[in-house]
Amino acid sequence: MAKIRYYYNTETCKYEPIKVTPKAMFLNVIGFITVSVILAAGIIYVYRSNFTPLKESILRSKNHDLKMEWKVMNDKLSEAYHQADELEFKDDKIYRVILDTDPIPTTIREGGMGGHNKYKEILEENIEQEDMVINTYQKLDRLKKKLYIQSKSYDQVSNVLSEKEKMWASRPAIQPINNKELTRLHTSFGKRFHPILKRWKSHDGLDFTAPVGTPIYATGDGIVTSAYLSSSYGNVVFINHGYGYQTRYAHMTKYIVDQGDNVKRGQVIGYVGNTGRSSGAHLHYEVLYNFKPINPINFFQRDLGNEEYEKLIEISKQETIPLD
Ligand SMILES: [Zn+2]
Repeated sequence: MAKIRYYYNTETCKYEPIKVTPKAMFLNVIGFITVSVILAAGIIYVYRSNFTPLKESILRSKNHDLKMEWKVMNDKLSEAYHQADELEFKDDKIYRVILDTDPIPTTIREGGMGGHNKYKEILEENIEQEDMVINTYQKLDRLKKKLYIQSKSYDQVSNVLSEKEKMWASRPAIQPINNKELTRLHTSFGKRFHPILKRWKSHDGLDFTAPVGTPIYATGDGIVTSAYLSSSYGNVVFINHGYGYQTRYAHMTKYIVDQGDNVKRGQVIGYVGNTGRSSGAHLHYEVLYNFKPINPINFFQRDLGNEEYEKLIEISKQETIPLD
C-alpha cells in the first residue's frame, strides 16, 4: 500500500493528505529516468576514459608478449645465421685450402630464394605486421638453404679427405730400412761415370748398405705386383701404390710377400741380401712415378727432422760407386 503523505494546511489548521496528480507523478518519473541516464552515461564516460576494459587489457598484454617473443626469436635467428657464416668461412678458407679443393662458388651459396610470391598465403591473410612476418620467413628460408648447402659441402669435404688420406697412406714416404743413424745410404740417384766399367751409367735408385737379414719395409700402402728372382735385381719385390707411384726393392736375401698381397706402410716385406747383380749386401730401392724413376730421397723428408734430412742430402751427394 502506497504511503500517504500529509502537509499542514494553515488555512484549516489541519494536517491534510497530499494529493499527487498523475501529471506530477509522470513528470517525477521522467525526471528520475533522465537524471539516471545522465548519471550512468557520465560514469561510463569517466570509466572508459580512465580504465581499459579487462578483455582488451588482456589482449594488449598478450600482444606485447608476442611482440617480445617474436623479437627474441628474430635475434636468435640472426645469431644462428652468423654461426652458419662462420661455418662457411672455415669450410672455404681453412678445410678446403688444406685439402687443396675449390671453395663452393658464391653463386651456389647465395643462389636465388624466390620473390614475395613464395609468401602468398601470408600476404592473403592481410595481417597487420606483414613486413615483419615476411622478413622473418625470408631470414629463416635463407638459413635453411645455407645449412643445406653447408651439409652437402661437408659430405664433399669428407669424401675428399678420405681420398687424400688414402693417397697420403699410399705415397712412398719413409726409408725402406731402419736408418736412424743415417749410416746406411751409400749412393746417389742418377747418371754417373762408373770408374770400373769406364762408362756413364744410370743408377735409377738409392743403395742402402746393411747386414744380410736386415728387415726391409714397404714405404707406403699398396699391392705387390711382382715378387720373384731376377738375374739382375736378385730377389725383388715390386709394389704398386696407386696415384702413379711404384716402388722396387732389390737384391733381397728373401722376400716374404707374394704377388697380389696388400701391404701397409712399415710392413716387413723381406730382408737385405746380396742376390742378383750385386757387389755387396745392400738394398737397391727405386721409386717410379708414372713409370719413370725419380729420386727416392725426395720422399724421406716427412720421416726425418730438417737437420737429419739435410745431412742425408749431403751423404747422397758423395761420389761413391753404386752397388747396383
Ligand atoms: Zn743400386
